[in-house]
Amino acid sequence: MTDQVVELLVIGGGPAGLSAVRAYREAGGLGRVVLVAADPDSPHERPPLSKDFLRGEQAEGDFGLLDEGELARLEVTWARDRVVSVDVEARRVSTREGADFAYRKCIFATGANPADLPVPGGEDSSLLRLRTLEDGRRLRQAVAGAKTVAVIGSGFIGCEAASSLRRLGVEVVQVTNEYAPQENRLGDEAAARIARWLTEDGVHLVTGVTVTAIERDAQGVTVQLAGREPVRADEVLLAVGVRPASDLAAEAGLRLHEGRILVDAQMRTSADGVLAAGDVVHAFNTAAGRGISVEHWFDAETMGKIAGRSAAGVEGAEWSSPPGFWSQIGDRWLKYAAWGDGYVEALYEEGEGDAFTVWYQDENGTCVGVLTYKADANYDKAFSLLG
Ligand SMILES: Cc1cc2nc3c(=O)[nH]c(=O)nc-3n(C[C@H](O)[C@H](O)[C@H](O)COP(=O)(O)OP(=O)(O)OC[C@H]3O[C@@H](n4cnc5c(N)ncnc54)[C@H](O)[C@@H]3O)c2cc1C
Repeated sequence: MTDQVVELLVIGGGPAGLSAVRAYREAGGLGRVVLVAADPDSPHERPPLSKDFLRGEQAEGDFGLLDEGELARLEVTWARDRVVSVDVEARRVSTREGADFAYRKCIFATGANPADLPVPGGEDSSLLRLRTLEDGRRLRQAVAGAKTVAVIGSGFIGCEAASSLRRLGVEVVQVTNEYAPQENRLGDEAAARIARWLTEDGVHLVTGVTVTAIERDAQGVTVQLAGREPVRADEVLLAVGVRPASDLAAEAGLRLHEGRILVDAQMRTSADGVLAAGDVVHAFNTAAGRGISVEHWFDAETMGKIAGRSAAGVEGAEWSSPPGFWSQIGDRWLKYAAWGDGYVEALYEEGEGDAFTVWYQDENGTCVGVLTYKADANYDKAFSLLG
C-alpha cells in the first residue's frame, strides 16, 4: 500500500472530472493532481454511443476526450482504478488496487449508471444497457447477430438508439409506458413529432404499456406487458433512465438530496475540502434560485469547470447557466434547454418547412424551457430568456 499526498484528487474520468482538472490548472492550481477513473477504456464521449458509433459511422478512436500529451502538459496522473472508500475527516482515499492517497481537495465526479427496471428479470445483467464504450461494443456485437431488438424506454437515449438500430437493418420494437415518446417531458405535440420520426425510421412503437417482467430463455427474450401481448425479441436494450453513482459519497457521509450529492453553486459539498460535479450532483443554480439535477454533457463540463476553479481557490465561480442538451434521432437534431421542473403550458410554433419550436411556460407566462428543431434563432433567444 502506498501513501501519497495529493493537492487535488478527482474521482471520475467523464466530462465533469476531466474539465475539473483542466480548470484547476488553468486557474493556477498547483501541486500534485491525481484523477482516478474506473473505466477500462481511455476517456471518451458518451453521446456517440447511441448515435454515430452505434450506427457504425464513427470508429472508437474518433471520440476520445484527451488530446495527445495533454495529461503530461497538465501534470495530471491518471489512475485506472476504482475508489472504494473516502474518509472526509481524515481526508484520505483508498482504491481497489490498494493505493491510499491523502488529499487536500477532492472532487467527486462519479456520474451515473443505467437504471434497472423494478420488475422480475429487470436486473438481469444479460440485458443490454448503454453508458460506457464497453456497453456500446456489446450492443453492436449483440445486434450483429439479432433479427429483432426490443428497446425499453422512450427517453432521449431510447429514441436515439431505436432509430440508430434501424439503420443497422434490425427490427426494432420500442416499448414505453408513455403514450408517445417523451410526452411527459416535452408535451403532446413534440411527442407526436418524435413518434412520427421513429415510425418513419421503421421503429415499431408499443406505447402506453407497463412492463411486468422480462424473461430470457435459450431462444431470446420475452417482455411481458400488463394486459397486452408480450413482445418477443432476440435482445433487449434497457433505456429507462439512470441511477446516480452516489454510493461512495453516501458511505463517506456527504449530504445527499434524492440520491444525489448536494452541492452549492460553487460545487461545494457538506464536507470541507470536498467538491462534486456532473450527473451525480443536485447543484444550486443561481439563475434558477434553487437546486437542480441534470444529466447532460455540457452541464457536466460546466459544473466540473466550476469545481476545478473552486478547488484552486477562485472566488465567485458559480453555476448560473440554463441546463440543456442536443439529441439526434436519425439525422434530426433536437435542441432542448429547460430548468427541468415541468411547465404549465407548452406553446407549439411551426417554423419554415418542417421546423418547429415548443416554448414551455410556467403559471406566470414566464419561459421555463424550449425545444427546437431547425430553429436555432429561437433556441438562442430562449437562452437569454432563461438566463
Ligand atoms: C448513450 C448516451 C448518450 C448520451 N447523449 C447525450 C447527448 O446527446 N447530449 C447530452 O447532453 N448528454 C448525453 N448523454 C449524457 C452525458 O453523457 C452525461 O450527462 C455525462 O456523461 C455526465 O458526465 P459525468 O462526468 O458527470 O459522469 P460520467 O460521464 O458518467 O463519468 C463518470 C466517471 O466516474 C467514474 N467512476 C464512477 N465511480 C467511480 C469510482 N468509485 N472510482 C473511480 N471512478 C469512478 C466512471 O468510471 C466515469 O469515468 C448521453 C449519455 C449516454 C450514456
